[in-house]
This record gives sequence, structure tokens and C-alpha cells, in this order.
Amino acid sequence: MSDVAFLFNPSAQTGQAAQRWDDLLRHTTELDIRFERFDTLPDGRTVELARDLARSGRFRTLVACGGDGTVSEVVNGMMGAEEKPENLPALAVIPFGTGNNIARSIGLAPNGPNNLRRALEAVRYGANLPFDLCRIDDRYVADAFSIGVDPAILIERNTEREKARRSPILRTILRDYNLYLYAVMRVPFRHKNVAATVWVDEEPPHTVGHLTNLIVNNVRVYAGEFVFEPDSRANDGLLDVILFTGWRDYLSKFILAARASPVNPRVLDRVLKRRRTNYQGHRVRIKTVRPVNSQIDGEVHRAGTDFEVVCIPGALTLKTPVG
Ligand SMILES: [Mg+2]
Repeated sequence: MSDVAFLFNPSAQTGQAAQRWDDLLRHTTELDIRFERFDTLPDGRTVELARDLARSGRFRTLVACGGDGTVSEVVNGMMGAEEKPENLPALAVIPFGTGNNIARSIGLAPNGPNNLRRALEAVRYGANLPFDLCRIDDRYVADAFSIGVDPAILIERNTEREKARRSPILRTILRDYNLYLYAVMRVPFRHKNVAATVWVDEEPPHTVGHLTNLIVNNVRVYAGEFVFEPDSRANDGLLDVILFTGWRDYLSKFILAARASPVNPRVLDRVLKRRRTNYQGHRVRIKTVRPVNSQIDGEVHRAGTDFEVVCIPGALTLKTPVG
């Protein structure tokens, strides 16, 4: 019997993950990790694969080797197994994606000489920590849910990626983060703010005339580089709600939340206090006056005017690096 199932996405990071498999193999031998490899499947079928593996009782740990999209599918599969939490395998992450928010949030950086080793050491010797999830509709959120500009950027990126596929030059230039930045630059010209009401738990509602964007975060790191709530954790039983009202607010919040922010932390504190529109809670409900797009873990979700996100504390066990 193997202890570990690797759910490996060979096309993560535009195929670079496939080249790292040999490195991974060397470390698994040195760390005496007994494993089976399963490649991820297209069209959302990785969810079914993860569900079947979680139900089989054959593995102590399911390892998502890919980006946040792969983690999201594995998580949704594990939750879909409908086992008691104590009967579910643990989840672990090998960050082979572009954003890697979940991995970064538990101290696993994607690049660098020892980081693959560290991630595999966490698979073998890591601490078993509770990992919260959020739920919206029939989906589980491991990383973040958002409405407004961020899903619009995602939709733009998908459209541009389709176009780039048809041009060899564009295909080389517009990939991974470049493609994302290109989409970021194009969206603001067309995006319209929306009036919205936001309820967090039993608090009085927040009414916003010009909502540009709204993020419900499950982990600390958003879009690879941004930390809006330095004190938040993926096991505090709370979801973080970040409201953006207008473009100035959107840009200033992202600049201040950048991990390599050029802004002095004292200035940052002062500005954040003045413009603070971050909330924490167990449940958030959002109503908008006209339909807006939404995204879950970097994938386009549905358009709508009514969204409810609920935190499920300690839904899974996450293998976390120690030391
Ligand atoms: Mg939290």
C-alpha cells in the first residue's frame, strides 16, 4: 500500500511542472515516500478522481501538485467523498502553479533551490493542521471567492489566452503572469461599478454605492503577491471580506497589500485605518443591483445578484511545514 497519492498537473505553469517531476522523484526516494502518481484530468474531472481516491481508503495523504486550481479540484473532490472528517486523507500541496496562494499562505514558496524539498518534507513529516474552507452554492472555496473587477480580469485573460493560442508570437509573450498583467491593464476601461449591500454575520449591513470589487479570502495570500489581512490564517474559522469602492481604493489597497510594498509600514497603518473596509466573519451575504461576475479559486463561477459564502472551520487536515 502507498501512503501518498500525487495528483499531478503536468501542464501547470505552462508545462514547466512536467520538467520538475524528475526532481520530485529524487526527493521522494531520499525521503522514503511511498506514492502513486495520478495525472489530473481536463473538464473538471479531477474532482471525481480526488473523490474516488479519498473514498478508497488507500491513501493517508492526497497531494495536489499544481496551482491553486488543482488544489481547488482536489479539495472539492475530497469534500464530495462525504466521509467523516476523521476518515478523510490529509491534504498536501506541491506548489507548481502561477499564484500558489494556498502554498504561500502556509510558508511554502514555489521557487528557489530548497522549496520543492521543503514541500515534500511537509508531505512526509509535516504537522497536521486544520484547514478551513468556504462554501458557496455547491462549491468549496480553498483560496478565494470574488465578484467585480477580479473575475472580469479572469474572463479577459481567458479570452486573450484563446486569441494568443492562434498566434505563435503572442503565445510566447502572453503567458502566465504576463497574460494576467495584460488582462489587468485592459479591464478598467470597460468595467462599471455596482451598488451593493453586504452582510457579515449579524452585523448591520454595509451599503456601498460604487462597489468595484469584493474579495472573500480563505487564506492569507491573494493573487500570489497580496496580503490584505496580515493576521488572518487558514485555520482561524473566519473568512476575510475586503471591499473596494472605486478605482483609487482598488489600486491603493492592492499597492498597500503587496508583500514587497514600497510603502513604509507606518504610513501603511495610517492609511489602512483611515480607509479600512475589511471585515471578518463566518458568513457573508452580498446583494447587487445588477448581475456581476464571480470567480472561485481562479476559475470563473457564475454571474448573479445574490451570493452567500459560509466558512467551514477545519473542514480538512492540511500538511504544513514545520520549522
Ligand atoms: Mg481565515
